[in-house]
Amino acid sequence: MFNQLQPVPTDPILGLMTEYKADNNPKKVDLSVGVYKNEQGDTPVLAAVKKAEEYRLNNEQSKAYLGMAGDVRFNEAMTNLLFGEHDVVKSGRVKTAQTPGGTGSLRVAAEFIARCNPTAKVWVTNPTWANHISIFNAAGLQVEEFPYFDFDTMGLKFDQTVETLSKVPAGDIVLLHACCHNPSGMDLNLEQWQTVADIAKQQGFTILIDSAYQGFGEGLNEDAAGLRLLASQVEEMIVCSSCSKNFGLYRDRIGAISIIGTDPAKAEIAFSVALGVIRAIYSMPPAHGADIVATILSSQELTSLWHQELDEMRTRINGLRSFVVDKFKEKGVPGNFDFIAKQNGMFSFLGIDKESIATLKKDYSIYIVGSSRVNVAGVNDSNADYLADALAKVLN
Ligand code: PLP
Repeated sequence: MFNQLQPVPTDPILGLMTEYKADNNPKKVDLSVGVYKNEQGDTPVLAAVKKAEEYRLNNEQSKAYLGMAGDVRFNEAMTNLLFGEHDVVKSGRVKTAQTPGGTGSLRVAAEFIARCNPTAKVWVTNPTWANHISIFNAAGLQVEEFPYFDFDTMGLKFDQTVETLSKVPAGDIVLLHACCHNPSGMDLNLEQWQTVADIAKQQGFTILIDSAYQGFGEGLNEDAAGLRLLASQVEEMIVCSSCSKNFGLYRDRIGAISIIGTDPAKAEIAFSVALGVIRAIYSMPPAHGADIVATILSSQELTSLWHQELDEMRTRINGLRSFVVDKFKEKGVPGNFDFIAKQNGMFSFLGIDKESIATLKKDYSIYIVGSSRVNVAGVNDSNADYLADALAKVLN
């Protein structure tokens, strides 16, 4: 059975993570993996999470199965976090199920889409999070790219985005990142979200939103403004969300899938199909992460502590963006990096060539993904000079 198998290459980012861990250089810098890091370079458990876990330890009543949709309190809290006081919530048009992380949510969405329309093409931004392509292919769906990020201007090529989306037919899916676009950091503004909504209505394709960084860009509500705008104007939509980053629950694997239907009855039918998909993949999600998020969001005290911690993470990331630009100027790194300060979330492309990226790793133990995407949160006061000096030397 297994003899004819060929090894699957390691995911390039996870491979870099292993190399980084094995590197003995005390000055090593990791700008590769997409986790938030504080000034000390750590990814600590949030205090709000610790408190919720303490509560759970003392109050958990049962380990009996949760059911396919997971924790009902969590699902309600996530619906509110994503949509706020939105009409789709009030009118009962949105149904949410807990999933194992954002990845699990996307995989459920992929299988759900395949059941709606097995020949649907899924249109993703060029570039996008690499796993998007694997996830939709795994469900047997074809993935197509539409122009999005412009490496010449380090901004959007929105005219080309519009041109391509205007040809996407009904029955296909268009995947957009709610905020903090991974890997480019370039988000749509509200006017551009409206343009996409107009094209979706005109063409009849279905929008899938991936919301993996709510609260990391401009704020919890601001980061959901695009998806809320769309939800007001289209009849059907899917939102896949993750609590990995904003609650720091990466390894607890907690996310959600929300399905908006034309009316409550149609939403219910679509939801039952999604639950059928869940049943056939993992049957039911694990309880821990959902309970932590639900406990935080149902307590005023813990919610306000979480807001403080989330604000702190966002403020640090945004501060780092300007800090990096200034530091690169001060150290004479050739090129204009002003765009970094204008982008959102943890990621930006440096726009440097593969040879320089390899030299940075070999000679300076600075780890950057081959596409030149960096996680800005990997920079801190103690490594910024070293990083900028190395870049200045390698790029000059
Ligand atoms: N979507 C995007 C754009 C991401 O960057 C990530 C994680 O890096 C995810 C989804 C999935 O997150 P997770 O499965 O860790 O919750």
